[in-house]
Formats: sequence, C-alpha cells, structure tokens
Amino acid sequence: MTQVHWEQVKADMRSAIGAGNYKSWIEPLSLMTADQGVAHLGAPSPFHGDYVSKTYGDQIVYHLNRQGLSVQRLAFDTVASKPANAVKPAAPTAAAPKSVANTDAQPDQRFTFDTFVVGKPNELAHAAAKRVAEGGPTTFNPLFLYGGVGLGKTHLMHAIAHELGEKRPDLNVLYISADQFIYRFISALRDRKMMDFKQHFRSVDVLMVDDIQFLEGKESTQEEFFHTFNALVDQNKQLIISADRAPGEIRDLSERIKSRLQCGLVVDLHPTDFELRLGILHAKQETYHSIYPGVDIAPGVLEFLAHRISSNVRVLEGALNRLYALASLVGRTVTVEMAQDCLSDILRASDRKLTIEEIQRKVSEHYDIRLSDMLGPKRTRTLARPRQMAMWLCKQLTTRSLPEIGRKFGKRDHTTIMHGVRKIDELRQSDSQIADDLELLRRALED
Ligand code: ADP
Ligand code: MG
Repeated sequence: MTQVHWEQVKADMRSAIGAGNYKSWIEPLSLMTADQGVAHLGAPSPFHGDYVSKTYGDQIVYHLNRQGLSVQRLAFDTVASKPANAVKPAAPTAAAPKSVANTDAQPDQRFTFDTFVVGKPNELAHAAAKRVAEGGPTTFNPLFLYGGVGLGKTHLMHAIAHELGEKRPDLNVLYISADQFIYRFISALRDRKMMDFKQHFRSVDVLMVDDIQFLEGKESTQEEFFHTFNALVDQNKQLIISADRAPGEIRDLSERIKSRLQCGLVVDLHPTDFELRLGILHAKQETYHSIYPGVDIAPGVLEFLAHRISSNVRVLEGALNRLYALASLVGRTVTVEMAQDCLSDILRASDRKLTIEEIQRKVSEHYDIRLSDMLGPKRTRTLARPRQMAMWLCKQLTTRSLPEIGRKFGKRDHTTIMHGVRKIDELRQSDSQIADDLELLRRALED
C-alpha cells in the first residue's frame, strides 16, 4: 500500500460523502501502516477516530479493498494535531488570536429532515425538532431529546442545524458534543482563555449540546455549562440538549441542572419497531444505490435485517453497508443466505434473549392485570387465562424447561405449567380471539 493508494481512497471517499464531511472527517486522517488485514489510521483525537470508525468505517474498508488491499478492519491511533493548533507561541500576540469558533463541526450532510424516517417511536421527537427548526419564537426551552444509542438524536440535531441554516441564516447556530464542550472548557482554562470561551458560547442564538451524559461527574464543567445555559435561556435563545437517558436519570448531574432541563420540553425517542426499521432500510437503500451503482440486494433481505437487528439504527445501517460492499466485491445479488453469512457476528450480537419476566410483564400489561396477580395463587378466569398464555409463550419463546418456568410462576409445579401449555394449545385451535392475542403478543415480544 502506498500513499498514492491512500490518496485515491480519500478521493473516493470525497465523492461518496461530499466535500463538507470529507473536510471535517477524512482529510485529517493519515494512513500509517496496513498489515495482517488491519489498516492503522492516524486521527487528531480519540473522538475523531471513534466517529469516523462508526460512521465511515465500512466505506473506508471497502475503498481500501478496491485499491487492492486486503483490509478487514481499521484501527485508529491518535496523532498530534497540526502544529498550528498544538504549538502555542511563547508570548500571546495580538496578530493571530485563535478564535474558539473555527473548529466547530459542520452539520453532517447526510443528517437532514429529508433523510430522517418518521415512525411511531420517534414522531414526537421529530415534531418537536421540526418546530424548533422553524426558528420562530422560542416556545419550549430547552428541548431535551433522549433515547438509547443509535436512535437518531444526533441526526435530528444536525437536521435542525441544516434547516435553520436555510430558514434563518441570520442566526448563529452552534452544535457541539458534550465531549467537545468539556475539551474546550479544559483547554480554555489551561490557556487562560476563559473570557473567549464564555463569549463564544454566550453569543450564539441556538446552542445544541449532544450527549450531555458525558458531563456526569465533571463538576466544574457542569458549573460552566449551567452558567452558559442560564445566560442563553435568559436571553430567550434556543437550547437543544440530548442525552442517552432522561434528565433525572443522569448520575451526578447537579439538581439545579436537572430541574432546569426539565423546565422545557422533554421528549424521548423510543426503540424502533419493525416498520420503522424497514422504512429506514428502504430509504438508505436509495442512497447506497448511488455509492455502489449496479449492485443489488434480493427481495426479503431488508425484511430479514429489520427483523433480526432490532437494537440500533447505526448497526442496521452498518449491516446494509456491509452487504452492499460485499455485493459489489463479488458482483452478485446479495441473498438472505449470503446476508446471514456475511453478518453472522452482527446477528449473533443482536440476538436478544427473551426472559420469562419480560413475557410475564408484557402479558399482564396486555390484559391489564397486576404482575403480582399473574404470579399469585388466585385462580379466577380473568387471571388464570392470561397466566396460562404467559406460560405458553415462555415455552415457545424461551429455552427454559418446564420446572424452571414453574419456579418463575410463583413456584408452581412443572405439571401445572404443562397443563397450562396444553390448555392453550387446545384453545388456539378453537378460539380465534386467543389465537390472535397470542400472535400479537409474540410479535410484540420478538420485535
Ligand atoms: P444517536 O445520536 O441517537 O446515538 P444517531 O443520530 O447518530 O443516533 O443515529 C445513528 C444512525 O442511524 C445515523 O446514521 C442516523 O442517520 C441513522 N438513523 C437513526 N434514526 C433514523 C431515522 N429515523 N431515519 C433515518 N436514519 C436514522
Ligand atoms: Mg448521537
């Protein structure tokens, strides 16, 4: 592998992801070594490497392979950033004041409202984000978006930034991850540039801080964040905050901050459902068509992915990306069998083990009975039937033995479980309501 090849990979990436993303993320990388299937890339910070790995890793691997290099994965090493940033002049000079602003990340071109697929689990978050993106008078402040990894928080924030850029170019919009906020704060302290720091953050019109769970335990940064936050809210400037959990659940976050965060609108992104996942895959498929022209995926493969990878949209995308890379390498249409093979590691990792407790909880919610009643001794019809259905589902959907199931149903004997399972087997044939309910529950549990 020569640097000439690497330059070619960079050029390919540039046309694949656009000049803006390229400049922010790919250009700063250097190829250090490549052997035994691992390409070592130098990145300016661990965060940078991490982001590139998650977002562009598969594509870089694909293009490296196209240059004739057999690379299976990337490893990122942090290398000193460019001298201009790293070396400080001995005495501060007025000639080159380093503005804190010039390192702000550009919104990712791929993360717009157009590319965001809306479904039940995220419709509220989407609607709130849309409202904020209109740039009208502040109605809720802050907007607090939370949800698990890979459910679209960062995507929505970038989408807001894009749309505001178009609708309200007069506004100064700043997106920053809490990571970077911490880093800038510490650098400002070290370089005695706190005034610049404060000035910079307090002069924005819309401030978005992503992943504020990273402020956990960082007291002095929290303090500064709190002041920034208050200063902006007092001026009626819009704040948009995200975290992987609700404000109240972030450990070590000062009570003052928690209560301020809860003053605005708090919306969560729910885990995706099958329809949303399939919708996202269909949408992504179109963009992949332009990256990998002439490459195809057989019918049923997207459904297969949406069914089997339920955790995280990022993983889902990574899987699709890998399939396209594979298809273009082998020059054949990807079938479900090939997908199973090529994605076995991802599929194994997302195989969720359903627990007896989850089944019991779901069934009692469905029939609106208490969990304690489901497990307790009462034998009225309204309790006994759901209980037996839960037993049946446990037998069908888990690998637990009858005695194990019995133990979890209030220490019942395994013969009681066997009886319950048989009873439901009979009823499924004769009672279509029960058959439908079982099917509904099974789908909800397996989703
Ligand atoms: P989070 O910040 O919540 O961890 P991201 O916003 O980074 O998640 O989303 C992870 C990936 O999944 C991104 O590539 C994003 O574009 C994609 N994604 C998530 N939700 C959606 C959606 N509803 N429609 C389209 N893409 C989505
Ligand atoms: Mg994110």
